[in-house]
Amino acid sequence: MKLEMTQEQTLITGMVRKFVREEIVPLELNLDPDADELDPADRDRLIEKTKAMGLYGLGIPAEYGGPDIDLMTSTLIAIEMSQHRAGLYAPCYGTFGGAGLAQLFEATDEQKEQYLFPTLRGEKRGFFGLSEPSGGSDPARAIQTKAERDGDDWIINGGKLWISGADKADYGLVFARTDKDKGRNGVTCFIVDTDNPGFHVRRVVHTLRSAHYATELQFEDMRIPHANILGEVNKGFAIASHRLTRQRIPYAAGCLGVAIKAQEMALEYVPQRETFGAPLSSRQAIQWMLVDNEIDIKQATWITLEAAAKADNGEGFRKEAAMAKLVATEAGGRVVDRCMQMFGGLGVAKDLPLERWFREMRIRRIGEGPSEVQRHVIARELLGESLR
Ligand SMILES: Cc1cc2nc3c(=O)[nH]c(=O)nc-3n(C[C@H](O)[C@H](O)[C@H](O)COP(=O)(O)OP(=O)(O)OC[C@H]3O[C@@H](n4cnc5c(N)ncnc54)[C@H](O)[C@@H]3O)c2cc1C
Repeated sequence: MKLEMTQEQTLITGMVRKFVREEIVPLELNLDPDADELDPADRDRLIEKTKAMGLYGLGIPAEYGGPDIDLMTSTLIAIEMSQHRAGLYAPCYGTFGGAGLAQLFEATDEQKEQYLFPTLRGEKRGFFGLSEPSGGSDPARAIQTKAERDGDDWIINGGKLWISGADKADYGLVFARTDKDKGRNGVTCFIVDTDNPGFHVRRVVHTLRSAHYATELQFEDMRIPHANILGEVNKGFAIASHRLTRQRIPYAAGCLGVAIKAQEMALEYVPQRETFGAPLSSRQAIQWMLVDNEIDIKQATWITLEAAAKADNGEGFRKEAAMAKLVATEAGGRVVDRCMQMFGGLGVAKDLPLERWFREMRIRRIGEGPSEVQRHVIARELLGESLR
């Protein structure tokens, strides 16, 4: 097994690291500690830079104008991109562009014209509407939002909960039940415009996340044309679960980047800070926190990179992606917590990014499938048919 980056990966990650340190971190010094957007002029200027680096449009396939890079390289980039205060939920404040809803690459030509291309040009925003008040861990069973056929249209009634950014979106993917007897084979994915008269944002839900709020949605006799079905009737759940599996790898990478940066900050701080007449770094209690951080980071890194390598090799990676999500989110939480402890009062102040990372990292053990669900996925992969 070869455990080294290619020359290209070394070059690209070096460029992204420099970009984060020289362009993003200095701007953050003058931003509200809870901000998740840059001043538009700064944003446009930095987008020109990421375009010049050949990295604008991360996650967009090359045939749609994105950079031609594999998941391993994107994962290494994601580790770098999150190493600033807003890095977990707004890595580099969106200046690398991105695919948005990757499912739309499977859309029809008309759907691509209406939704995908404007999204890639930064003109439209979408949301991903799977979870409901009845439960998000097992959405295939929990989905109660109903879609019923009416001529060339479908009528959707129901609601969603926890849907990120739907209050600022132009459209979204809504997963609704179209056959009540077929479980995961009875769910269809609809592309829904947010100006539809039946679409309502009931409330914005404030969480531990600084910005980029979640929402509760309500659909009342929302009439959607049949042409707005993404994929096929009753095959929507496969669209959702494919996305969720792949997404777990960059999700893990974001947590890793934050953990690496927090550890770097602690390593710089503890030799300088003195208590009881000696630097903190001379205390075994502090050294062991640093050691435990290092081990947490290394374990999570290798598990995450293995998942990316398997996906790139075309091998099954469901188990590895679940392991990466589980280990990186839990390790990330422990590392940030230990670093906070080493910084004392400064650790919990908004002067440093640690308090924001601490809050937002906690969500990572729940969002995109809680830790217990990842363990459930891994157990199913290990035990296979004997569990069914
Ligand atoms: C800030 C935020 C943003 C989100 N954004 C979106 C979004 O944009 N789109 C979207 O569709 N969803 C989104 N979600 C929803 C998220 O995916 C769900 O919260 C998550 O899947 C858990 O669902 P739930 O909250 O309904 O918890 P439940 O399904 O009720 O589960 C509760 C708890 O039970 C435990 N549990 C569940 N299953 C098992 C099991 N098999 N064994 C043991 N324990 C178990 C877990 O600890 C879990 O946390 C978001 C959530 C948050 C908090």
